[in-house]
Formats: sequence, C-alpha cells, structure tokens
Amino acid sequence: MRVPLSKPDITQKEIDAVVGVLKTPYLSIGPQITAFEQSIARYVGTKYAVGVNSGTSGLHLLIRSLGITEGNEVITTPFSFVASANCVLFERAKPVFVDIDPVTLNLNTDLVEEKINEKTKAILAVHAFGYPAEMKKLQVIAKNYDLAIIEDACEALGAIYEGKKVGTLSDAAVFAFYPNKQITTGEGGIIVTDNEEIARLCRSMRNQGRGEGSAWLAHERLGYNYRLDELSAALGVAQMARLEDILAQREKVAKRYNEKLRKIEGVKTPTTGKNVRISWFVYVIQLDESINRDEVMAYLEKHGVGCRPYFSPIHLQPFYKDMFGYREGDYPVTERVSRSTIALPFYNTITEEELEYVVKTLADAIVTVGN
Ligand SMILES: *Cc1c(COP(=O)(O)O)cnc(C)c1O
Repeated sequence: MRVPLSKPDITQKEIDAVVGVLKTPYLSIGPQITAFEQSIARYVGTKYAVGVNSGTSGLHLLIRSLGITEGNEVITTPFSFVASANCVLFERAKPVFVDIDPVTLNLNTDLVEEKINEKTKAILAVHAFGYPAEMKKLQVIAKNYDLAIIEDACEALGAIYEGKKVGTLSDAAVFAFYPNKQITTGEGGIIVTDNEEIARLCRSMRNQGRGEGSAWLAHERLGYNYRLDELSAALGVAQMARLEDILAQREKVAKRYNEKLRKIEGVKTPTTGKNVRISWFVYVIQLDESINRDEVMAYLEKHGVGCRPYFSPIHLQPFYKDMFGYREGDYPVTERVSRSTIALPFYNTITEEELEYVVKTLADAIVTVGN
C-alpha cells in the first residue's frame, strides 16, 4: 500500500468551476477573484480580502504595506515554513527569532519583550500547524511598544482563538492555498484586514502598482505581478463552499489518529488545546528522544508511508547561518522539537484502511528500529 503525505480534495464541482472559467474571456482580473475575496472576507469576518498568487506574496505585501524596511526588525518564530521569515528579508529588514513554547509550538510570548528595541516594527506570529498562537499576550505587548502584528495564518484557515477566527486578531493576516493546505487554489494566497489603507496598498502592489481605476499603464508605486488568476480563484470559490465539511472531516481524521497512536509507546500525539479550535493542517507526532527519528522515517518511506520532518528550523537553513551566524543551540526548544517530529499522511479523504496501515507501519518501525 502507498499512502501519500497529503492529497487535495477535488470534486466534480471544482472541476466544473474551473472549466466554466475557460469558457469565458476572463482568465485573469474577472468576477471569480472578487467572489473568492468576498467569500473569504465573509467567512473570516474581516472588511477586506485581497487575493494574491501565493501565501509568500501576501506576506511580502504586508511587510511592504507596513513600511518595514532596511534597519527594521520583525520578531517571529524559527519553527515555521521558511517563507514566514523570508518575507522580512525581501525588504532587507531583519527577522529576529524567539524560541517556541514546547506545547503549542508557537512563539513563546514570555521571550518576546527582551527582543524588542528601537528597531523593532512588528511581531509576525505564525499559527503553526493550524494551532492558534497566544494572540492575547502578543496584542498587549504590541500595544505597549507600539508594534504592528501580522498573522501568518497560512496553515490555519478556520482556526479559532478564544471565540475569534484567526485572521482577525492582528493588523492583517495571510492565508495560503498550496495543494497541501486545508483548501487549495493550486497556487494562491489571500490577505485579510480591517485596515482600509493596508488593503488599498496591497491591491495596488499586487497589480504592478496601479491605482484604483487608473489607466492600465499608469503606475503609482513600485508593484509586482502577484495577481491570482481566475481559474485558481474559481477553484477557491468551489472549495470555500465545502470548507466547513472539509475542516470537520480533517478533525475526524486527527481524532482517529489520536485514539490509535496514544497506544503506541514513544509517540506523542499533537496538543489538542483549550480555548481553541485547531484547523488541522498537518498531523505531526513527536517521537521520544530515545527513538531514532530518521530511521523511523526511512522505514515508513520504504513501506509506502509518506512522511516529513516538519519543520526544519529556519535559523539553521544554510543561508540564514551564513547571513546571521546562527548555530546549533541558539533556539533549543525549536531544535529539540524539530529533531523529534514526523508529519504523517493527512488529508480529509484518507480511508480507515490507509489510516490503520500508517499506524501499524509506524508501530512496526519503532519496534524494528529499536530504542
Ligand atoms: C504555506 C505557508 C506559507 C505560504 O506558502 P506559499 O507556498 O507561498 O503559498 C507561508 N507560511 C507558512 C507557515 C506556510 O505553511
């Protein structure tokens, strides 16, 4: 049996929606992106949504629209996908890392204040694996030091923190729609905000710096081509119509895994949390330190079970080490967690048979590899 790490959930509705676009003259800048933006804004509960061609593009536009530039610092987590720190580097500002909480795997808010200085402009919080970051504490810190907050919610569409949807807990947030996310547009992302100025700047910058309603070749500012095309947006609209079903199904799969994996010694299942609704993005276990994680992963791969060591710390990526001189030991919690994690196959259409095969193969792997 082969069980992939992830798989998008595409039905005939999505296929019809995309084919429908191909029968119109509007393949970019048309009605689908507007419909997708409205659907996300309505669901998340923000005034504005601005569709872009990737989550990374969305993060970049937020850094720019906040005026973050050379000489500035942004506080963020090293336990994330590399794009959440790279977006700061794009503008020659410096990402300043803060180690994580070993339970939530998000920014340890107790360590944030000591990193703030006159160069600090913003806190970029990541809701890692769809588990909401401690936003209340970050909001207090941001207010005291007059900082902006950006949510990298690329893994967390639909997650809820103390009764509020993620994406509404900061100045602006980004969701992403790569095929392994909760819903997909192929490639794509979206910025959400209640701030009219941020929305206006992002709209302009995604479209080559054009002003609203200005002539096609009139450019008011430096911009990019970060537009989301109509085929992708139509796919997004069709996926959004099924979002709650998709999230419920993912939660069911996570619960099945939790039940079964709790019985395996040496395996720690993901935190389920209080006062939060996790939007299940990936299903990541941690192995006891006495078990050789890499050998377990090799065993899983050999037996057809897709897996990945989520995440590899950002500060230990070769170019971060070169640029900033980071070394092993700089962020010990992040490093310890990173050495023990395995993302297991996780998608809403996974069958009971596939899930049982994954669990059995993992149990075999642990026994075979030995302690
Ligand atoms: C997916 C993801 C992004 C954005 O990814 P794109 O591939 O650019 O859409 C950003 N940050 C995190 C934490 C992510 O998981």
